[in-house]
Amino acid sequence: MTAGVAPRSAASAPVAASHTGRLVLTPADPHVIPQVGLLIEMLADKGFVGESLGTSEEQAYRIGPGFLSLMTFAGCAVRIQSDPDRQGGFCHIRVLPAREHPSLLVGRNTRAPRCVGCRARLVDWREHTAHWASHPHAGVTCPQCGETRPPWLWDWKEQGGFGRLFILVEEIFPSEATPAPALFDLLIRASGTGWRHFYVQD
Ligand SMILES: [Zn+2]
Repeated sequence: MTAGVAPRSAASAPVAASHTGRLVLTPADPHVIPQVGLLIEMLADKGFVGESLGTSEEQAYRIGPGFLSLMTFAGCAVRIQSDPDRQGGFCHIRVLPAREHPSLLVGRNTRAPRCVGCRARLVDWREHTAHWASHPHAGVTCPQCGETRPPWLWDWKEQGGFGRLFILVEEIFPSEATPAPALFDLLIRASGTGWRHFYVQD
């Protein structure tokens, strides 16, 4: 008998290059979902986003000619690789599909959020994420002071957060670049709502 023994896959596991990080822009109110078409149009008009990188699954754009004037960089030597044909990371902008409910975006840099009342940390937060994803109205009770708040009203600092619409600026090391006041002004004008930012690393 020559019962088939499946050959071991010759494909080796992909070498995971460490993701530098991304800047995430999202409305300050995690329930708000602005009109995306109008938003992109205004971001393109001011040169924050450039030509479309057109993928079928999500919207992606090159950075536009106004990008550097709408961001503040911490380092003195700004080197922006905006060419997608090169190896490694390049700077571009992605718009994730809108979520039905406020959802959590986190990364390996995310630390336990703090209770806004007593500053206690929710150390087992990663065990709650699946429940939050399937229960959009879940409350989280603080293990120290006993107050119950929705998870987006905990203090995630700039290491994660909830939203329904996320604009991602790849690849930005956390705090390497921050949105300039002019970018927040532009986002507010384009959406009629306030915005916040944070950073995540895969
Ligand atoms: Zn508390």
